Amino acid sequence: MAKEFACKKCKALTLGKMCPVCKSTELSKDWSGILLIFDSEKSKIASTLEISASHKYALKVT
Ligand SMILES: [Zn+2]
Repeated sequence: MAKEFACKKCKALTLGKMCPVCKSTELSKDWSGILLIFDSEKSKIASTLEISASHKYALKVT
C-alpha cells in the first residue's frame, strides 16, 4: 500500500497531490499517527485541533 501524504497546513492525509480539505499542495511524507474524524461538528478532538472537515488526519507532520 502506498503511503499517504499529509498536508502541512491542516494535516489531512491524502493519496493525491493536493489536500482534499484545504486544497494546499504543500504535502509531506514525514508524518506519524492517524486521527480519524467522522463527525467534525460534534468531535471535541476536532474542535481542539481546529479541524472543520470529516477526514483522516495525521497527528504529527514534520
Ligand atoms: Zn490541508
